[in-house]
Amino acid sequence: MPPGQILDGKATAKAVRTDVAEGARRLQAQGTQPGLAVVLVGDDPASHVYVRNKDRAATDAGFAVQTRRLPAETSQADLLAVVRELGDDDAVHGILVQLPLPKHLDADEVVQAIPAHKDVDGLTLANVGLLAAGRPGLRPCTPAGCVELLDRYQLPIEGQHVVIVGRSMLVGKPLAQLMLARNATVTICHSRTQDLAAHCQRADIVVAAVGIPKLIQGDWLRPGAIVLDVGINRGEDGKLVGDVDFDSARERAAWITPVPGGIGPMTIAMLLANTLRSAAESSGVPLDSLGLAAR
Ligand code: NAD
Repeated sequence: MPPGQILDGKATAKAVRTDVAEGARRLQAQGTQPGLAVVLVGDDPASHVYVRNKDRAATDAGFAVQTRRLPAETSQADLLAVVRELGDDDAVHGILVQLPLPKHLDADEVVQAIPAHKDVDGLTLANVGLLAAGRPGLRPCTPAGCVELLDRYQLPIEGQHVVIVGRSMLVGKPLAQLMLARNATVTICHSRTQDLAAHCQRADIVVAAVGIPKLIQGDWLRPGAIVLDVGINRGEDGKLVGDVDFDSARERAAWITPVPGGIGPMTIAMLLANTLRSAAESSGVPLDSLGLAAR
């Protein structure tokens, strides 16, 4: 079998971002510039890189971006006040609180203070519930990016057996809901799953969202499987490595995402799409007129 083909998240994300920029241009022509606010607390170097990338991508798409950088010792009350102020600001359509927050802060309370219609990470209980109920809402960016990547490569989801490794609120659980909504058969595996390899062997599509470098081995895969590697881990050599052993997995897979350059860039692209969606909805502009699908 020839080695699996690469699902190029970088190129696909660029295509999504071009579409979003075109949608933003059309929305602005009707008087609304999409506005994204990013809140960053403390000095975590990885978080600073993520926030810089999001800021740049949103600016490139024609959005108004404000990044609030707050000191590590910011109190819960002060952080909540910033989130509420942004929640009341009509020029802000999307609010993103970069996680993780410093340990003395209650991240859940902060996230839940974001108004649901500005919750572009899709993490408030309202959006979690809307997704579970199959109703329109803002979807978490990483799982939405997984689905968008498959769609843009025209790879089928309906009727496929999707095995998701990881059950976090950020990735695994919402992805399972999105895949169910697309009529996939879904298996969710996690840290207490017995015989993970056997589950993966039954998958048409394997999604790894665990945080353990190279956990998923090539011989766990059915020949011809599709592999989405959400994991971002820092290897001993300082390089980024996914949750899938890429070289052995590529021998078996029909399609596979690399790390970096796979799901990571798709996540940022979907953040922009969510912000455009939220801006369009707040100004009453039909989503389809901006190239956005109704959900
Ligand atoms: P998490 O720590 O919240 O969840 C990890 C999940 O993996 C848990 O549900 C746990 O049950 C499961 N797990 C742990 N050990 C396991 C094992 N041995 N076998 C099977 N399952 C096991 O992590 P998360 O926030 O979902 O992130 C997962 C990975 O994805 C991390 O590497 C993170 O950096 C990465 N991530 C990437 C993006 C992106 O944009 N590409 C976004 C979010 C997270």
